[in-house]
Amino acid sequence: MKISPNALCPCGRGLKYKKCCGALHRGLPAATPEDLMRSRYSAYVLKNVDYIMETTHPLSPFYQADPTAWRAQLSIFCTTTRFEKLAVLSVKKGDTPDEGYVTYRATMFRGDQDISSTEQSLFRRLQGRWLYIKGI
Ligand SMILES: [Zn+2]
Repeated sequence: MKISPNALCPCGRGLKYKKCCGALHRGLPAATPEDLMRSRYSAYVLKNVDYIMETTHPLSPFYQADPTAWRAQLSIFCTTTRFEKLAVLSVKKGDTPDEGYVTYRATMFRGDQDISSTEQSLFRRLQGRWLYIKGI
């Protein structure tokens, strides 16, 4: 899905896409777990499946060794889900400077079905880049 660089970012922060998650989608490392979390949500909205895969930690239970199958699964999820809204509820430091938590609520629908979820996600920094591990 295409988005104008000057459109409001899908993550809901109120900034232009190019100044928000767009910069991360173009390769800028996320400065914080919250930035990474927001950019992953925006990637789901924009069906940027490669970004979701690249920002999943190799030790995450969601990481898949077969990129073709993984890409196909994510594509189906993105195509069949309507992403309505993201709300970041809280952020928390982890046990080390390379760990952090973000609690968020994502409002999503599949057809008429409300599949919204609230999750506290764990992020870990690997070689200078924040990556998603899992919900806890
Ligand atoms: Zn954003």
